[in-house]
Amino acid sequence: MDSFDVVVIGGGPAGYVAAIRAAQLGFRTACVDAFERNGKASLGGTCLNVGCIPSKAMLDSSEKFEMITHEAAEHGIQVSGASVDVSKMLARKAGVVDKLTGGVAYLFKKNKITSFFGYGKFVRQEEGGWIVDAAGTEVKATHVIVATGSNPRALPLAPFGQNVVENSGALEFTAVPQKLGVIGAGVIGLELGSVWRRLGAQVTVLEALPGFLMAADDALAKEALKQFQKQGLEFHFGVNITKVEQDDSGVSVTYTEKDAETTARFDKLIVSIGRVPNTTGLGADAVGLALDERGFVKVDGHYRTNLPNVYAIGDVIGGAMLAHKAEEEGVALAELIAGQAGHVNYDVIPWVIYTSPEIAWAGLTEKQAKDRGLTVKTGQFPFSANGRALGHGDPRGFVKVVADAQSDRILGVHMIGSGVSELIGEVVAIMEFGGSAEDLARTVHAHPTLSEVVKEAALATDKRSLHM
Ligand code: FAD
Repeated sequence: MDSFDVVVIGGGPAGYVAAIRAAQLGFRTACVDAFERNGKASLGGTCLNVGCIPSKAMLDSSEKFEMITHEAAEHGIQVSGASVDVSKMLARKAGVVDKLTGGVAYLFKKNKITSFFGYGKFVRQEEGGWIVDAAGTEVKATHVIVATGSNPRALPLAPFGQNVVENSGALEFTAVPQKLGVIGAGVIGLELGSVWRRLGAQVTVLEALPGFLMAADDALAKEALKQFQKQGLEFHFGVNITKVEQDDSGVSVTYTEKDAETTARFDKLIVSIGRVPNTTGLGADAVGLALDERGFVKVDGHYRTNLPNVYAIGDVIGGAMLAHKAEEEGVALAELIAGQAGHVNYDVIPWVIYTSPEIAWAGLTEKQAKDRGLTVKTGQFPFSANGRALGHGDPRGFVKVVADAQSDRILGVHMIGSGVSELIGEVVAIMEFGGSAEDLARTVHAHPTLSEVVKEAALATDKRSLHM
């Protein structure tokens, strides 16, 4: 029987990164992953196969179409007869996914990680380790890392089927639906709804919560809603879905909103109401792996489960269900197993929504900071006063900096606008070092760039913006 220092179950961002870091640290490492695309193993988990990467590929393709059909004329570029070839768009997306999933397989080879394709499950504990069934082959592991990720949450009234889809299905429509319903106005619903709206669908978003993007800073949520409504996305908040009926040609959704009942007919319905931890096929019961009441694997601050030398990371332990959080946990855990001081700073995790305009934030909202009893000062600067944004032809949005009024330390930064998914990086780095608004304001930013808006927002916390 083969034995390994570390066996990772799950090859998504948490698992594959943990495996690479463990191998770098000199551990004999194996990873068992069950994700299958086109009948073949495809490493990278939800993120690379059916999540982050394909959704961004489709967002980029659809944004190019929107630019050509709606914005090129303003630049003096006349285009006529632009049309969408959905199958080509899907093929391009699949090519991007292939490159990246193949890249993970290459990295496994390079780092001498043994890869098993299929389910991994606990068999029993033995002296000095665990026996794990790795896709039908029993192996011995000193340490086991559970990184089995998450699955889409289904709406009990609307089981997934032909016309009711989750993220994978929504990335595979073979034609643009004329009328698209989206249940859930979270990140995934907004991104996937945006893709198909740009390609011509009429999109209606039904959200149970009374407001929009309630986790975001109020100013950001208000501006985002205004921009999305301007694009033609239709939103209904505080909605209660009472009936979903699907047939061959579409889906009828009945919901109440402010006591009024409505039935809407859609060609397709995307259900994006969150994700649930995935522990199926793991043999958790057989070995007594403790889960919480929602099914997440219970861990302590060092990712240790209730079982000796068994750890869990990524979506399956809950918290921010983000690929970069999962990856950082992978690195931290491998280092902890090696006796090093692995650590993730959960206070500074960037959140990004890749719509147009993009939305990004890190740290506390103004309200969260005030609720904690902090005295805050804020500074806001619009992209409409920035030369590069005007040159781009996209002056929507702003950057808002929330800083501690006494210490000047940055507590949070909130952005909406073109390219803010990239701008959030500098803010996260400064916050990681405990930086102040003054640090951000005194840092030289290249001109003309969108990043100057970040600097100006930092200056604005002290009412000394230079270009407003
Ligand atoms: P996963 O990526 O889910 O990987 C788990 C892997 O384990 C899978 O391959 C699964 O098949 C395998 N597995 C499960 N059980 C077993 C078993 N018993 N044996 C063997 N293998 C098993 N996050 C971002 O940060 N940025 C984004 O832009 C973003 N966009 C997203 C868009 C969409 C549409 C979706 C759905 C998600 C998006 N996410 C994004 C979230 C991100 O995909 C997840 O947070 C991330 O994939 C979690 O990584 P993970 O390794 O914990 O789990």
